[in-house]
Amino acid sequence: MLKPRKQFGQHWLRSEKALSRIVAAADLKKGDAQGLVRGDRVLEIGPGKGVLTRPLLDHADAVVAVEIDRDLCEFLVKKFGKIDNFLLLQGDFLSLDLEPLLAPLPNFQNPNKVVANIPYNITGPILEKLLGTIAQPNPHPFESIVLLVQREIALRLRANAGSSHFGALSVRVQYLAACDFICDVPAKAFQPPPKVDSAVIRLRPRPMTAPANDPKKLETLLKLGFSSKRKMLRNNLQGVISREALSELLETMGVNSQVRAEDLSVEQWVALSNQV
Ligand code: SAH
Repeated sequence: MLKPRKQFGQHWLRSEKALSRIVAAADLKKGDAQGLVRGDRVLEIGPGKGVLTRPLLDHADAVVAVEIDRDLCEFLVKKFGKIDNFLLLQGDFLSLDLEPLLAPLPNFQNPNKVVANIPYNITGPILEKLLGTIAQPNPHPFESIVLLVQREIALRLRANAGSSHFGALSVRVQYLAACDFICDVPAKAFQPPPKVDSAVIRLRPRPMTAPANDPKKLETLLKLGFSSKRKMLRNNLQGVISREALSELLETMGVNSQVRAEDLSVEQWVALSNQV
């Protein structure tokens, strides 16, 4: 029997409750029989042994699953190979260019939702591939992205300014998407249990109401601003703007000149980048 491989972050989800929360959060629809209304096309990263794949196949028009582990792919082909709304791609999701692969397959083209229990060791790169970056947002954004992630990451993704979980990742992701915390998932919901607790989050990519004039500059400021935590922002940003000038600028924004990076909201970061 297939033993979970550590290097691929393999932890099989075995909680029915967690599975149904994940599927419900994705709010999946099937198209009509005449093909007039298109249903959801789901991208799943790391299907593993297919516990989540099964309900996705039942609730959506199509599922494109990307799995890196060849042995698991063999297993999945045996399990779902005959189901015609299932497409399995073997490879590393991070280096796969999906668009040309799916172009000749109309039923699987342009997945509009992502639903996945991802390998935690590559959460950051997966988020970046799905959302893009502040300077280069994904030009074909997904309608929604439901992910099972490490609880600590979920808290960061939905944190507000001033909270101890708020950081550069919060700003980067919230600039690109709205984030809902769906539910906690304890370590014992997995086999083998990971060392950390988990949580389900849902991201809905959307443009900022007032985007930064110069997104590249915003990225640079975030990188510097959060470079040493707990330091005052005016010290971290000294390389780009003098302490005095920044203090003045912050005061015109109605912000205390002694703030730290984690005290500024996403909108305030945008405002700051527009004025530096
Ligand atoms: N969704 C399954 C498995 C989750 S474990 C479940 O809930 O039970 C994470 C899965 O991601 C494993 O199947 C692992 O092999 C796969 N994986 C790890 N790195 C990957 C990568 N770079 N690209 C695609 N799949 C990957």
